[in-house]
Amino acid sequence: MSELLVDARGVRKSFGENEVLRGVDFEVRPGEVSCIIGPSGSGKSTFLRTINALETIDSGSLVVRGEQVGYELRGGKYHEWSDPQLAKFRSGIGMVFQRFNLYGHFDAIENVAASLIHVKRMSRADAHARAEQELTGVGLADHMHKKPHQLSGGQQQRVAIARALAMDPELILFDEPTSALDPELVDEVLETMRQLADGGMTMIVVTHEIGFAREVGDTLSFFDEGRVLEHGTPESVLSGSDSQRIRGFLDLVR
Ligand code: ADP
Ligand code: MG
Repeated sequence: MSELLVDARGVRKSFGENEVLRGVDFEVRPGEVSCIIGPSGSGKSTFLRTINALETIDSGSLVVRGEQVGYELRGGKYHEWSDPQLAKFRSGIGMVFQRFNLYGHFDAIENVAASLIHVKRMSRADAHARAEQELTGVGLADHMHKKPHQLSGGQQQRVAIARALAMDPELILFDEPTSALDPELVDEVLETMRQLADGGMTMIVVTHEIGFAREVGDTLSFFDEGRVLEHGTPESVLSGSDSQRIRGFLDLVR
């Protein structure tokens, strides 16, 4: 198996006439934190969605966890996978969205336990024990029995992170995880993500939090019009770039 967890080469994707990904090259090694920045509409979310096979690609090569993904090969069936194979592939990749997507009528434990019961086929008791452990890990030991509306946005996002972690993912994709939060709640979520990074979790993080990218990121990629315009260490991209596009973007978000 390749040493890369994600290996994208020349990935292209259109929605109708709109070519959203125009040849994306992107690599992630196990244990790396790869941050992605770039203007709205540059294809960041679409690219993340191709990685866990929520979106197909039109051309190029995309290998994730050693599996070639992205093509709709025949009969409208995704890849050549059966639904259980697709579910198994996806369950190895966590996803944390801008909006937390928690079940409103479930408390925190039930939100974390649901996939363990329904996808991993754990017993309810085992799933709840695991959920308690993950919620404690993200600092929510005192809030396990609250429903989403009883939690702050930052707490809800930490439930979403605990839910991703409970599935033992090899990789977690974060799509602007702090963009919907009130400013005073951003740091608690970034701190949780920093702890994951310190623990060796492989993460791809789309974010406008430049400080996080600089301090926690191993690599930083700047997306622009469906391509990776610049890629390197955060320091080299943030300080070294003489690209007007990047300087202009950074002036806007800082
Ligand atoms: P970003 O996350 O960088 O803001 P997106 O990947 O969300 O960019 O969107 C890139 C472009 O793709 C936008 O023009 C958006 O309208 C378009 N797009 C995204 N998803 C779809 C879809 N499911 N159908 C049609 N167009 C889409
Ligand atoms: Mg987006």
